[in-house]
Amino acid sequence: MLEIRPNCEHCGKDLPNSSTEAMICSFECTYCKDCALDLLENVCPSCGGNFQPRPIRPKVMLAKYPASEKQVHLPKNKGKIEKMKVRYRLIKPEKR
Ligand SMILES: [Zn+2]
Ligand SMILES: [Zn+2]
Repeated sequence: MLEIRPNCEHCGKDLPNSSTEAMICSFECTYCKDCALDLLENVCPSCGGNFQPRPIRPKVMLAKYPASEKQVHLPKNKGKIEKMKVRYRLIKPEKR
């Protein structure tokens, strides 16, 4: 089950469950669309995987399965971002 983290871990932007801007990698590293697609160019700086829009959990399910309220704020340094981009940016996700 996804945690549905409440914010972009790089820039800190709020990304509530209902946000249409939340993007996640397969490990649920969570970024806003601007960070995931523009800054990171669809390369997760932690795992090298790609991002997909995070699904929205239906309201009726939130009572029993609430979204996480635990902020994860781990801004990535430029060097790490660049290193992963150089390695993976031009390789399709399914070939990484
Ligand atoms: Zn962001
Ligand atoms: Zn990742």
